[in-house]
Amino acid sequence: MKHLIQAGIAALAVSLAPALPAHAQPALHLDPPLATRSDPMTVVFDARKAPLGLAYTHMTIPVAPGPFTIDYPQWIPGDHAPDGPLQGMSELRIKGNGAPLRWQRDQVDMYAFHLDVPQGVRTIDVDFTVIMNTDLGGMMATRNIMIGNWNRAILYQRNTDNEQYFVRASLIMPPGWDYASALPVVARSGDRVDFDTVSLETLVDSPTDIGRYVKHITTWTGNGTATYLDLFADAPEDLKIDDKVIDAYKNLTPEALALYGGRHWNVYHSELTLSDQLGFEGIEHHQSSDDRAGDSFMTSPAEQLANGDLLPHEFSHSWNGKYRRPFDLQQPDFNDPYPERTELLWQYEGMNQYMGDLLSFRAGIRDPKDYPEFLAAMYATMSYEPGRKTTPIIDTTTGAPYYYCCGYGDYPSIRRTANDFYDEGELMWLDVDTIIRQQTHGAKSLDDYTKVFAGGVSAPKVVTYTREDLEGYLNQVTPYDWHGFFQKYVYSIAPQPPTDEIARAGYKLVFDDKPNKFVAGRAATRHRIDSWFDVGVQMSQKGEVGDVREDSAAWAAGLAPGMQIVAIDDRAFDSDLWTEAITNAKGGTDAIHLRIKQGGWYTRLDLAYHDGLKYPHLERIPGTTDMLSQIMQPRVPPPKKAAPAAASPVPG
Ligand SMILES: [Zn+2]
Repeated sequence: MKHLIQAGIAALAVSLAPALPAHAQPALHLDPPLATRSDPMTVVFDARKAPLGLAYTHMTIPVAPGPFTIDYPQWIPGDHAPDGPLQGMSELRIKGNGAPLRWQRDQVDMYAFHLDVPQGVRTIDVDFTVIMNTDLGGMMATRNIMIGNWNRAILYQRNTDNEQYFVRASLIMPPGWDYASALPVVARSGDRVDFDTVSLETLVDSPTDIGRYVKHITTWTGNGTATYLDLFADAPEDLKIDDKVIDAYKNLTPEALALYGGRHWNVYHSELTLSDQLGFEGIEHHQSSDDRAGDSFMTSPAEQLANGDLLPHEFSHSWNGKYRRPFDLQQPDFNDPYPERTELLWQYEGMNQYMGDLLSFRAGIRDPKDYPEFLAAMYATMSYEPGRKTTPIIDTTTGAPYYYCCGYGDYPSIRRTANDFYDEGELMWLDVDTIIRQQTHGAKSLDDYTKVFAGGVSAPKVVTYTREDLEGYLNQVTPYDWHGFFQKYVYSIAPQPPTDEIARAGYKLVFDDKPNKFVAGRAATRHRIDSWFDVGVQMSQKGEVGDVREDSAAWAAGLAPGMQIVAIDDRAFDSDLWTEAITNAKGGTDAIHLRIKQGGWYTRLDLAYHDGLKYPHLERIPGTTDMLSQIMQPRVPPPKKAAPAAASPVPG
C-alpha cells in the first residue's frame, strides 16, 4: 500500500517492553465451505450505472437450513486495516426459493448478517446496491472510470477459509467500456465478462478496473507470460504518453526479475487510473495492482519525479508482501475472529519503500543521478521529526490500522504517521544494504538478501515469515548483529534515523540555501510552501499553516496549525515575499513581523529567525566509494528498439 496523505492519530502511550513473541495464533475453528469449486457461489456485478456512482450486485450463496451468517469483508489485504467500506453497502435484499428472508445485523460485529434459512433452501439470492463514492471508502467512480474492488460487491459464508471458498464472478460494464483484470476469463460477450471460478482469496486479490478511455500496453513478455500496464483516464488526452516514459516502465519487469531472481505471478497487470477525482493511492495484489494517480501523472515529468515509485512499489509487493508475508498478517478469513497484526510492516512496507524507489531509479523512471538529492530530502525529513523522541517505529507499525485510517489532524510531526515506517524503512534498509556491502567488501548487497527472501519461480502462493526468519536470511548473506540492529532502530526510541549509511555510502548531509529538487517538487505537487528545515513551518500558498515543527523558530513565535499568515511586515502575504523576508533577515537581529488570522481574530507575532533558507543535500566525501550510484545502477541493459508490438488484446 502506498498513499500520499500523511496519516496518523495521537500517539498512544508507548510501551518499551520487549516485543511479545506473539507467535501464538488463535486456534482455527473454520466451518466447511459450502461454496466449492464444482458448486461455487456466483456474483454478477452490474456496473452499468458506474458513471452515476452506483452499481448493483446479485449473488447466489450456498447455505444450510437453520441459523446462518453471511459476512461483508472487513480486513482487506493490502489495506492492513479493518476498513471494508461497509457504508457503501445498501438496499440489502435476501430471498430463499423466491421468498424474501428476514436478515438482522449482528449487534457487535457490524459486518455480519444473520438469517434463519428455511428447510429445503440450498442457496439464497442476495442483492445489494453499491454506493461507489463514500467518505470512508473514498472515491471509486467517476463519469469515465470505476475502480473495481470485488470486496465491495460480495457477502459470503461466515468463518470459512478464503482459499477453500469458491466464487464464479461476472461483470457488466457500461456500453463501450473496457476492463483489465488478472482474473482468468471464460467468455466475453459485448459488455459482459464471465470469469472462471476462483477462490474468494483470489477474487478479492484481483481488482478489475473498468473505463471509457482505456489503453493496454504490454510492458514485458517472456517464459510464456507477460506484464501489462492498463491505463484508465478521465480525459482521453492523458493517454498520449511519451515513448520515453513508456520505455522506462518497460524496464521495470526485467529490473524486478533481476532484483528478486524469479517471480511468483503467472501474469501481472498494473491497473493505473489517471484521475484527479480518484486521487493518489496504491494497493498491492499478487498478480496485479490497483494504482491511482492524478490526470497528468504519466505526462508530467514533475509527477514522475515526485511519485515515480508508485508502480514499482506495488509491483515489488508481489514478492514482498503477497508471496512472502508476515505470519500474523496472513489470515484465513477477512472477518472476525481473525484480525491481522501489523508489527512486521517494517519489512513488508519499510523494505518495500526502498525497493520501490530503487526500482524506479534502476528502470529509469527517475534519473539515478537524482538519488542523492532524493535521499537528502528523505533523511532530513525523518531526522527533523519531533515525535521520534518519544515514539519508536514499532509503535507506528503495530498501530498501523489506526495510523492509516484516522490521521488527518494537526501536528503529524509530533504524532508520527504511517508515512514514517515507509520512509524510515527505506533509510533503515539502505543502512542494511551498505552494511552488507561493507562487510563483504562489495561482494554482496541487499540484492542477495532479496533472492534469499523471495527468489525462485512459483505460481501465486503465500509463504509466511517471522522476525527471526528475516534475521536468519540476513545472516545467510553476511553474519552481523542484525537482531541488535533492528532492536535499535525499530523496537527502541531512536532520536535520529540510522546515520551511518550516508557516510558508508560515501556522502555527508549538508544544508544550504539552494532548493532541493525533491523538497521543491513535493511542495509544488501539494501546492504548499515548505519552510520546514529553516523556520519550521509548512503552509499553503495562501499562508494557511499546516504543521509547525516543535522547538523551531516558528514554534517559539507561537505559530500553530489553523492560523493563517495574512501579512509579513505589513505587506499582504505571498510566497515570494515569505522567501524574501527569510533571506533578508539572515545574519540580522530584527524579527519578522507577522499578522495572523485565527478564526475571527487578528494578532501579531514576531518571528525571530536569522539563519536564512535551508535545504538538505548530499555531498560526496572525496576518495570514498560511491555506493549510491552502485546501488541505483540498472542491472539489465535497456532493450534494443524493436518494431512496435501489435495492439494487445485484453489479456485474461
Ligand atoms: Zn506498500
